[in-house]
Amino acid sequence: MSVHFLLSAAARTLSLGSIYKAGEAEAYKTFCAIRWTETNGEAVCPRCGCVECYEITTRRKFKCSACRHQFSVTSGTIFASRKMSFVDLCAAICIFVNAVKGLSALQLSRDLDCQYKTAFVLAHKLREALAAEVENHTLDGEVEIDGAYFGGSVRPANFAEDRVDRRLSENQSGTRRVVIAIRQRKGRTLTFVGKSEAEGVELAARVVSRKSVVFADEAGHWDRLHRAWIVGRINHREAYSADGANTNQVESFFSRLRRMVAGQHHGVSPKYLHQYSAHAAWLEDHRRRSNGENHRAVIGNAVHHPVSTVWAGYWQRHQEH
Ligand SMILES: [Zn+2]
Repeated sequence: MSVHFLLSAAARTLSLGSIYKAGEAEAYKTFCAIRWTETNGEAVCPRCGCVECYEITTRRKFKCSACRHQFSVTSGTIFASRKMSFVDLCAAICIFVNAVKGLSALQLSRDLDCQYKTAFVLAHKLREALAAEVENHTLDGEVEIDGAYFGGSVRPANFAEDRVDRRLSENQSGTRRVVIAIRQRKGRTLTFVGKSEAEGVELAARVVSRKSVVFADEAGHWDRLHRAWIVGRINHREAYSADGANTNQVESFFSRLRRMVAGQHHGVSPKYLHQYSAHAAWLEDHRRRSNGENHRAVIGNAVHHPVSTVWAGYWQRHQEH
Protein backbone atom coordinates (compact mmCIF):
# COMPACT_ATOMS: atom_id res chain seq x y z
CA MET A 1 0.00 0.00 0.00
CA SER A 2 1.40 3.37 -0.87
CA VAL A 3 1.82 5.76 2.01
CA HIS A 4 0.42 9.27 1.85
CA PHE A 5 3.27 11.69 1.21
CA LEU A 6 2.83 13.57 4.46
CA LEU A 7 3.06 10.31 6.40
CA SER A 8 6.28 9.25 4.71
CA ALA A 9 9.70 9.86 6.24
CA ALA A 10 10.71 11.86 3.15
CA ALA A 11 8.20 14.54 4.14
CA ARG A 12 9.96 15.09 7.49
CA THR A 13 13.46 16.47 7.22
CA LEU A 14 13.26 19.10 9.94
CA SER A 15 11.92 19.26 13.46
CA LEU A 16 11.55 21.85 16.19
CA GLY A 17 13.75 19.66 18.34
CA SER A 18 16.62 19.81 15.86
CA ILE A 19 16.28 23.59 15.47
CA TYR A 20 16.49 24.23 19.22
CA LYS A 21 19.20 21.63 19.72
CA ALA A 22 21.35 23.31 17.05
CA GLY A 23 20.78 26.62 18.79
CA GLU A 24 21.02 30.34 18.09
CA ALA A 25 24.45 30.38 16.39
CA GLU A 26 23.41 27.70 13.88
CA ALA A 27 20.12 29.45 13.18
CA TYR A 28 22.04 32.69 12.52
CA LYS A 29 24.38 30.84 10.14
CA THR A 30 21.38 29.42 8.31
CA PHE A 31 20.05 32.92 7.70
CA CYS A 32 23.46 34.14 6.44
CA ALA A 33 23.86 31.11 4.16
CA ILE A 34 20.41 31.58 2.65
CA ARG A 35 20.66 35.36 2.25
CA TRP A 36 24.15 35.25 0.71
CA THR A 37 24.12 32.00 -1.26
CA GLU A 38 26.63 33.18 -3.92
CA THR A 39 29.30 33.84 -1.30
CA ASN A 40 28.59 30.80 0.88
CA GLY A 41 27.12 32.94 3.61
CA GLU A 42 29.81 35.66 3.55
CA ALA A 43 28.23 39.08 3.94
CA VAL A 44 27.69 41.27 0.88
CA CYS A 45 27.06 44.99 1.37
CA PRO A 46 23.42 45.64 0.41
CA ARG A 47 24.27 49.24 -0.49
CA CYS A 48 27.26 48.88 -2.81
CA GLY A 49 27.62 45.14 -3.39
CA CYS A 50 31.10 44.99 -1.89
CA VAL A 51 32.09 41.60 -0.46
CA GLU A 52 34.78 42.93 1.88
CA CYS A 53 32.92 43.47 5.10
CA TYR A 54 34.16 43.51 8.69
CA GLU A 55 32.15 41.53 11.12
CA ILE A 56 31.17 43.21 14.36
CA THR A 57 30.72 39.83 15.99
CA THR A 58 29.28 40.97 19.30
CA ARG A 59 26.37 42.72 17.61
CA ARG A 60 26.00 40.37 14.64
CA LYS A 61 26.50 43.32 12.34
CA PHE A 62 28.77 44.00 9.41
CA LYS A 63 30.56 47.09 8.21
CA CYS A 64 31.35 47.52 4.54
CA SER A 65 35.01 48.31 3.89
CA ALA A 66 34.15 50.30 0.77
CA CYS A 67 31.18 52.50 1.75
CA ARG A 68 31.28 52.07 5.58
CA HIS A 69 27.60 51.06 5.60
CA GLN A 70 26.58 49.04 8.63
CA PHE A 71 24.08 46.26 8.18
CA SER A 72 22.92 42.91 9.49
CA VAL A 73 21.72 39.73 7.81
CA THR A 74 18.13 40.97 8.02
CA SER A 75 18.72 44.64 7.06
CA GLY A 76 16.50 45.76 4.23
CA THR A 77 14.51 42.49 4.34
CA ILE A 78 11.07 41.63 5.63
CA PHE A 79 12.75 40.75 8.97
CA ALA A 80 14.36 44.20 9.33
CA SER A 81 14.24 45.45 12.97
CA ARG A 82 13.41 41.97 14.17
CA LYS A 83 13.45 41.46 17.90
CA MET A 84 12.97 37.72 17.89
CA SER A 85 16.08 35.53 18.13
CA PHE A 86 17.16 33.65 15.03
CA VAL A 87 16.40 30.32 16.65
CA ASP A 88 12.84 31.43 17.44
CA LEU A 89 12.42 32.75 13.90
CA CYS A 90 13.60 29.40 12.54
CA ALA A 91 11.16 27.63 14.85
CA ALA A 92 8.31 29.95 13.86
CA ILE A 93 8.93 29.20 10.20
CA CYS A 94 9.05 25.47 10.95
CA ILE A 95 5.66 25.67 12.70
CA PHE A 96 4.37 27.79 9.82
CA VAL A 97 5.35 25.34 7.07
CA ASN A 98 4.20 22.32 9.06
CA ALA A 99 0.70 23.78 9.42
CA VAL A 100 -0.74 22.51 6.15
CA LYS A 101 -4.11 24.13 6.75
CA GLY A 102 -2.65 27.46 7.81
CA LEU A 103 -1.87 28.83 11.22
CA SER A 104 -3.63 31.27 13.49
CA ALA A 105 -1.62 33.99 15.18
CA LEU A 106 -2.98 32.80 18.52
CA GLN A 107 -1.59 29.32 18.04
CA LEU A 108 1.78 30.65 16.89
CA SER A 109 1.99 32.98 19.89
CA ARG A 110 1.33 30.06 22.24
CA ASP A 111 3.87 27.80 20.56
CA LEU A 112 6.56 30.48 20.64
CA ASP A 113 5.48 32.04 23.91
CA CYS A 114 5.47 35.49 22.35
CA GLN A 115 2.87 38.25 22.25
CA TYR A 116 -0.14 37.74 20.00
CA LYS A 117 0.73 40.96 18.14
CA THR A 118 4.23 39.69 17.39
CA ALA A 119 2.92 36.40 16.02
CA PHE A 120 0.21 38.16 14.01
CA VAL A 121 2.67 40.44 12.22
CA LEU A 122 5.28 37.72 11.77
CA ALA A 123 2.82 35.35 10.09
CA HIS A 124 1.58 38.12 7.80
CA LYS A 125 5.15 39.04 6.85
CA LEU A 126 5.80 35.41 5.94
CA ARG A 127 2.65 35.33 3.81
CA GLU A 128 3.66 38.52 2.03
CA ALA A 129 7.12 37.11 1.32
CA LEU A 130 5.90 33.79 -0.03
CA ALA A 131 3.27 35.47 -2.21
CA ALA A 132 6.12 37.24 -4.02
CA GLU A 133 7.20 33.86 -5.41
CA VAL A 134 4.47 34.14 -8.05
CA GLU A 135 4.65 37.87 -8.69
CA ASN A 136 4.56 38.42 -12.47
CA HIS A 137 4.22 34.67 -12.92
CA THR A 138 2.24 33.52 -15.96
CA LEU A 139 0.49 30.23 -16.56
CA ASP A 140 0.66 27.86 -19.48
CA GLY A 141 -0.59 24.42 -20.56
CA GLU A 142 -3.78 23.20 -18.90
CA VAL A 143 -5.19 25.89 -16.65
CA GLU A 144 -8.25 25.80 -14.38
CA ILE A 145 -10.16 28.85 -13.23
CA ASP A 146 -12.81 29.24 -10.56
CA GLY A 147 -14.03 31.59 -7.89
CA ALA A 148 -15.43 31.20 -4.39
CA TYR A 149 -17.09 33.69 -2.08
CA PHE A 150 -15.89 34.37 1.46
CA GLY A 151 -17.22 36.47 4.30
CA GLY A 152 -20.13 38.84 4.46
CA SER A 153 -22.43 36.45 6.26
CA VAL A 154 -24.91 38.02 8.63
CA ARG A 155 -25.99 36.08 11.69
CA PRO A 156 -29.72 35.35 11.49
CA ALA A 157 -31.80 37.02 14.16
CA ASN A 158 -32.94 34.87 17.08
CA PHE A 159 -36.68 35.26 16.43
CA ALA A 160 -37.90 34.16 13.03
CA GLU A 161 -40.08 37.25 12.73
CA ASP A 162 -36.97 39.47 12.94
CA ARG A 163 -35.07 37.60 10.25
CA VAL A 164 -34.36 39.23 6.91
CA ASP A 165 -33.63 37.85 3.47
CA ARG A 166 -29.87 37.47 3.65
CA ARG A 167 -29.62 37.00 -0.11
CA LEU A 168 -30.48 40.66 -0.70
CA SER A 169 -27.51 42.97 -0.95
CA GLU A 170 -29.05 45.54 1.44
CA ASN A 171 -29.09 42.84 4.12
CA GLN A 172 -25.46 41.82 3.65
CA SER A 173 -22.53 43.19 5.64
CA GLY A 174 -20.55 44.51 2.68
CA THR A 175 -17.52 42.38 3.54
CA ARG A 176 -18.29 39.62 1.06
CA ARG A 177 -15.48 39.03 -1.42
CA VAL A 178 -14.67 36.51 -4.08
CA VAL A 179 -11.36 34.72 -4.31
CA ILE A 180 -10.52 33.91 -7.91
CA ALA A 181 -7.97 31.16 -8.36
CA ILE A 182 -6.25 30.29 -11.61
CA ARG A 183 -4.25 27.11 -11.39
CA GLN A 184 -1.97 25.46 -13.89
CA ARG A 185 -2.12 21.67 -13.72
CA LYS A 186 1.32 20.57 -12.47
CA GLY A 187 2.12 24.27 -12.05
CA ARG A 188 1.40 27.25 -9.82
CA THR A 189 -1.81 28.63 -8.36
CA LEU A 190 -2.46 32.36 -8.68
CA THR A 191 -5.06 34.04 -6.49
CA PHE A 192 -6.90 37.34 -6.60
CA VAL A 193 -9.52 38.96 -4.42
CA GLY A 194 -12.37 40.85 -6.04
CA LYS A 195 -16.05 41.61 -5.73
CA SER A 196 -17.40 39.38 -8.47
CA GLU A 197 -16.30 36.15 -10.08
CA ALA A 198 -16.71 37.66 -13.55
CA GLU A 199 -13.55 39.72 -12.92
CA GLY A 200 -11.71 36.44 -13.47
CA VAL A 201 -11.93 36.83 -17.25
CA GLU A 202 -9.77 40.01 -17.22
CA LEU A 203 -7.39 38.44 -14.72
CA ALA A 204 -6.97 35.41 -16.96
CA ALA A 205 -6.15 37.71 -19.88
CA ARG A 206 -3.25 39.09 -17.80
CA VAL A 207 -1.74 35.86 -16.54
CA VAL A 208 -2.74 32.96 -18.79
CA SER A 209 -0.88 32.32 -22.04
CA ARG A 210 -3.06 32.33 -25.15
CA LYS A 211 -1.78 28.85 -26.02
CA SER A 212 -3.27 27.39 -22.86
CA VAL A 213 -6.37 25.28 -22.63
CA VAL A 214 -8.61 26.72 -19.94
CA PHE A 215 -11.09 24.74 -17.84
CA ALA A 216 -14.05 26.38 -16.16
CA ASP A 217 -17.46 25.44 -14.82
CA GLU A 218 -20.86 26.25 -16.29
CA ALA A 219 -21.20 29.79 -14.85
CA GLY A 220 -22.31 32.17 -17.62
CA HIS A 221 -19.54 34.77 -17.21
CA TRP A 222 -16.93 32.20 -18.25
CA ASP A 223 -18.47 32.15 -21.74
CA ARG A 224 -16.25 35.14 -22.50
CA LEU A 225 -13.16 32.93 -22.05
CA HIS A 226 -14.02 31.22 -25.34
CA ARG A 227 -13.04 34.37 -27.25
CA ALA A 228 -9.38 34.00 -26.32
CA TRP A 229 -8.77 30.37 -25.43
CA ILE A 230 -9.77 26.82 -26.15
CA VAL A 231 -12.02 26.20 -23.17
CA GLY A 232 -13.17 22.95 -21.60
CA ARG A 233 -16.38 23.41 -19.62
CA ILE A 234 -17.69 21.17 -16.93
CA ASN A 235 -21.28 21.41 -15.79
CA HIS A 236 -21.18 20.53 -12.10
CA ARG A 237 -24.88 19.74 -12.11
CA GLU A 238 -24.10 16.84 -14.43
CA ALA A 239 -20.61 15.66 -13.44
CA TYR A 240 -17.42 16.74 -11.70
CA SER A 241 -15.23 15.50 -14.52
CA ALA A 242 -15.96 14.50 -18.09
CA ASP A 243 -13.51 13.92 -20.97
CA GLY A 244 -10.67 15.61 -19.08
CA ALA A 245 -12.78 18.68 -18.42
CA ASN A 246 -12.78 19.38 -14.71
CA THR A 247 -11.76 21.99 -12.20
CA ASN A 248 -10.61 19.51 -9.58
CA GLN A 249 -7.20 21.10 -8.99
CA VAL A 250 -8.55 24.53 -8.38
CA GLU A 251 -11.31 23.02 -6.20
CA SER A 252 -8.74 21.39 -4.00
CA PHE A 253 -7.10 24.79 -3.49
CA PHE A 254 -10.49 26.19 -2.40
CA SER A 255 -11.03 23.29 -0.09
CA ARG A 256 -7.72 24.08 1.64
CA LEU A 257 -8.54 27.78 1.84
CA ARG A 258 -12.00 27.05 3.30
CA ARG A 259 -10.52 24.79 5.94
CA MET A 260 -7.91 27.44 6.73
CA VAL A 261 -10.44 30.24 7.09
CA ALA A 262 -12.98 28.17 9.04
CA GLY A 263 -10.59 26.15 11.19
CA GLN A 264 -7.69 28.51 11.90
CA HIS A 265 -8.82 32.07 11.38
CA HIS A 266 -12.54 31.58 12.18
CA GLY A 267 -13.72 33.90 9.47
CA VAL A 268 -11.66 36.51 7.75
CA SER A 269 -11.75 40.22 7.09
CA PRO A 270 -11.60 41.23 3.41
CA LYS A 271 -8.41 43.12 4.32
CA TYR A 272 -6.44 39.92 4.88
CA LEU A 273 -8.18 37.56 2.47
CA HIS A 274 -5.53 38.02 -0.25
CA GLN A 275 -2.83 37.00 2.23
CA TYR A 276 -4.63 33.82 3.30
CA SER A 277 -5.35 32.97 -0.33
CA ALA A 278 -1.70 33.35 -1.28
CA HIS A 279 -0.72 31.25 1.73
CA ALA A 280 -3.14 28.44 0.84
CA ALA A 281 -1.96 28.54 -2.79
CA TRP A 282 1.67 28.27 -1.70
CA LEU A 283 0.88 25.31 0.57
CA GLU A 284 -1.06 23.66 -2.22
CA ASP A 285 1.71 24.14 -4.78
CA HIS A 286 4.43 22.83 -2.45
CA ARG A 287 2.44 20.07 -0.75
CA ARG A 288 4.73 17.33 -2.08
CA ARG A 289 7.93 18.92 -0.85
CA SER A 290 9.59 18.05 2.46
CA ASN A 291 9.13 20.38 5.40
CA GLY A 292 12.89 21.08 5.38
CA GLU A 293 12.76 22.29 1.78
CA ASN A 294 9.68 24.39 2.48
CA HIS A 295 11.37 25.87 5.55
CA ARG A 296 14.40 26.85 3.51
CA ALA A 297 12.20 28.30 0.79
CA VAL A 298 10.28 30.50 3.23
CA ILE A 299 13.50 31.81 4.80
CA GLY A 300 14.79 32.44 1.26
CA ASN A 301 11.64 34.32 0.27
CA ALA A 302 11.80 36.36 3.46
CA VAL A 303 15.47 37.42 3.31
CA HIS A 304 15.12 38.37 -0.34
CA HIS A 305 11.95 40.35 0.20
CA PRO A 306 12.16 44.07 0.95
CA VAL A 307 10.86 45.69 4.13
CA SER A 308 7.08 45.43 4.13
CA THR A 309 5.16 48.63 3.58
CA VAL A 310 2.14 47.06 5.26
CA TRP A 311 3.59 45.09 8.15
CA ALA A 312 6.74 46.97 9.21
CA GLY A 313 5.81 48.98 12.31
CA TYR A 314 2.22 47.75 12.01
CA TRP A 315 1.37 48.02 15.72
CA GLN A 316 2.98 51.45 16.06
CA ARG A 317 0.44 52.61 13.48
CA HIS A 318 -2.46 50.58 14.90
CA GLN A 319 -2.38 51.37 18.61
CA GLU A 320 -6.07 50.93 19.14
CA HIS A 321 -6.18 47.16 18.64
ZN1 LIG B 1 29.11 49.06 0.81
